[in-house]
Amino acid sequence: MDTIKVLIVGAGPSACYVVDALAKTDLPLSIDMIDRYPQPFGLLRTGVAPDHERIKSLDTYFGKILDQAPLKFYGNISFGSDITLDDVKDAYHAIFFCTGTESDNDVPGLDYSLSNVAGSRDVVEWYNGYTSQRTHFDPLSLGNNVGIIGMGNVALDIARIFLKEPVDLAKTEMPQSCIDIITQQHISDVHIFARRGPAQAKCTPLELAELLELDTIQTLLDPSSITLSDTDMVEYNETKRVQKNVDILKEVISTKSRSKRLHIHFCSQLKEAHVNDGAVNGVTMAKTILSGDPHQQQTTLTDESYHVPLTSLISSTGYKGAALPGIVFNEKTHCIPHEAGKITTQPKSSATYYCAGWIKRGPQGVIGTNKSGAKETVDSFVADVASFSSKSLQPFDLAKTLKQRNHTYYSYDDWKTQNDFEISEGEKKNKKRFKLTKITDIEHCLKTNS
Ligand SMILES: Cc1cc2nc3c(=O)[nH]c(=O)nc-3n(C[C@H](O)[C@H](O)[C@H](O)COP(=O)(O)OP(=O)(O)OC[C@H]3O[C@@H](n4cnc5c(N)ncnc54)[C@H](O)[C@@H]3O)c2cc1C
Repeated sequence: MDTIKVLIVGAGPSACYVVDALAKTDLPLSIDMIDRYPQPFGLLRTGVAPDHERIKSLDTYFGKILDQAPLKFYGNISFGSDITLDDVKDAYHAIFFCTGTESDNDVPGLDYSLSNVAGSRDVVEWYNGYTSQRTHFDPLSLGNNVGIIGMGNVALDIARIFLKEPVDLAKTEMPQSCIDIITQQHISDVHIFARRGPAQAKCTPLELAELLELDTIQTLLDPSSITLSDTDMVEYNETKRVQKNVDILKEVISTKSRSKRLHIHFCSQLKEAHVNDGAVNGVTMAKTILSGDPHQQQTTLTDESYHVPLTSLISSTGYKGAALPGIVFNEKTHCIPHEAGKITTQPKSSATYYCAGWIKRGPQGVIGTNKSGAKETVDSFVADVASFSSKSLQPFDLAKTLKQRNHTYYSYDDWKTQNDFEISEGEKKNKKRFKLTKITDIEHCLKTNS
């Protein structure tokens, strides 16, 4: 059989699992992988909290997968602008879209053009050393009293990073400049606002315990807000995660007074963000009540409201994927419609199109959840392989095309050079890793270490 030419768009965890599953097919493959970031691994590098060191170390596992596959990596290349569908649609037998999610679900009524209002993506990219796509967020305007709307794992990550002692952050790969800013802000209070009750909190028990067990913080919550209704009790009895979350919350009611405080406000929905002199300085939250069947309870606003003064406000209510030029997209689910990973509407071309990861199933689950989904997608690809021999491909050399267009890209060897440098510089600074995220620093590293 002739070599099957594959293009993978995106180099996050799902793309790495696709490569792993492709390599296990033993088919003769030649894989090109592009990512708009200069380095591979997607949110593992740009989103996962720097103190989640065990998860972060998955880069070694994914690195081995990419290293051993017949693969060429092209970092710093955006699909849709640097390389278009027209360029590649007749140049590959199969194209896998593994582009993850693009942006936050914005909270209506929040003005994200203010420097002390941000979506969680701006914040997590910042503390991972990257500059977000849409950023008016200025970390210097966080102040000491931060509000976070949402109670999923990302909200808890942000609260934990803000409340952790700088000395503990210093050991991680978090850039020292970010740690210095957090230190300067003297963050003493973080308020988490959850629209529903403790039984409906989206976070996982592990993340909740990790935050509440920080020995430097006092957790404050109204004991009556964790009293469960009969319907909540059904959810509690039927779902291990709910049971564990509620039990963890019950234990923190009597924590000791400390200089840093985490306030958890359940059944609270944003009514108004108060702006003065171009900055949010507080919120009025409306209390909600829940009604409906277990696991499907909906919120209704009540007339009761309360005011909380804040120095900044972050929304963390989930992510959404973005449409890719020429590729069918569901604007409601913000995912690519597919059947077992094969994109349902195939554009006219030699290539057959597939998808994997968050752009396939939406932003749920941990990194490992992407593995079985990637395998399903590759199984669909394998079922189509016999049809590929009838497709004649146009000659195409991605590296040559990018050079002709004067697009700077970074190869997998470039990544390995950076990776070695980041780890050895990190060791010198007593950090897990000294991250290179700016093109000028990457260029300098490659010039002096290649
Ligand atoms: C803030 C945050 C923290 C998390 N923490 C954890 C954790 O602690 N543990 C855990 O198990 N899971 C965690 N997750 C979940 C985990 O990150 C996801 O499951 C996983 O990253 C999804 O993989 P993916 O490949 O689908 O998407 P992504 O990781 O987003 O990768 C998509 C890749 O596609 C690239 N891309 C997108 N569009 C284009 C384009 N047009 N051209 C070229 N490239 C493109 C992006 O640059 C990116 O590299 C976290 C998620 C978030 C958001």
